[in-house]
Amino acid sequence: MVSSRSRLVQPSVTFGLSAKAKTMKKQGIDVISFGIGEPDFHTPESVKQAARDAIDANKTGYTPSIGEPDLRQAIKDKLEKENGLTYELSQIAAGNGGKGVLYHIFLSLLDPSDEVVIITPYWVSYPEQVRLCGGVPVFVQCDPHTFAIDSEDLKAKVSAKTRIILINSPSNPCGVVYTEEQLRLVADLAQQHNSYILSDEVYEHFYYGEKPRSIASLHEDAYARTIIVNAVSKTYAMTGWRIGFVAAADKEVIAAYSRLQDHTQSNPCSIAQWAAVEAYTGSQDSVTVMRDAFRKRRDSMVQLLNAIPGLHCATPEGAFYCFPRYELAMPSLQLAEQLLEEAHVVVMPGEPFGLEGYLRLSYAVADEHIPAGIERLHAWFAAHPVI
Ligand code: GLU
Repeated sequence: MVSSRSRLVQPSVTFGLSAKAKTMKKQGIDVISFGIGEPDFHTPESVKQAARDAIDANKTGYTPSIGEPDLRQAIKDKLEKENGLTYELSQIAAGNGGKGVLYHIFLSLLDPSDEVVIITPYWVSYPEQVRLCGGVPVFVQCDPHTFAIDSEDLKAKVSAKTRIILINSPSNPCGVVYTEEQLRLVADLAQQHNSYILSDEVYEHFYYGEKPRSIASLHEDAYARTIIVNAVSKTYAMTGWRIGFVAAADKEVIAAYSRLQDHTQSNPCSIAQWAAVEAYTGSQDSVTVMRDAFRKRRDSMVQLLNAIPGLHCATPEGAFYCFPRYELAMPSLQLAEQLLEEAHVVVMPGEPFGLEGYLRLSYAVADEHIPAGIERLHAWFAAHPVI
């Protein structure tokens, strides 16, 4: 019998559907995937070269568990330059991708029954990680059309039991970028109830309007209680390299994080760390190229989705996902399965992201896949009219 802890969580739908689509492709089926979220771009050449150089220079042994000082310095400089935030090296730790970093933060902060306030819709792994660490996810509603935080619900859900308020702006899966007013409300409530703010900023460079602001930059108190998580994965098309980081003003948090990581991981891959140093310190041109491409793809996907009868898609302001609402009376898990089986298109169901009746489509895919894939969806929905 496996542990009760392992039985607490569901398999990841992002990885599950992606694996199923890969199997279908291997069988020769022409599947178009808007599934798992990762840039279709390759890792920049200079970053790959830095990894080759690291191997040639035999930088292949253990590193400090929270990362080489060079990497943490590169992260410190990035935070100063791009976010206007000053940290010491002792306030920064690297880890095994954004996901690994988040897990170790929850392990560092949560005691049994501590609550983590999560805004709907949310990335699938947040509640599962919280449960694995003994915490209790508490969900806050959003506006079903704009995905703005429901302020009244947020005020009602944050309490003395709240250990962390978690925000992700730009957001996966709906692409919302929170306004300064919303960030101020989060910061005020965190101050009132003395909770941490966990700010997942992995999509910070993918915005199509105003540049998103880190909640830590609002004021002194927000800075003091915010824990920033970020990664090279999306920004530099490095999803498989697994390098993420945490920055927190509260040194105790980083010390706890570091103790845990000593025993769980030894260190994030040494070669990937040197690649990440180049990503943060080298040319940033690839980021602009991706952002411009994603903006065009977003515009075309939103337009094509809204032309499908029974689908309604708000224009995402950031990240690289569309999150349309559909009118069919069918659970999203079943709809996603049927679209894969019958239309050979991978989409993510909204339900594991906390909003039933929605689908998530990544537009970080090759240009030509957008019209071709949406055409298949259009034909499928036309054959399944809402009655
Ligand atoms: N974060 C991406 C997504 O939501 C990658 C998959 C994952 O880590 O769950 O598709």
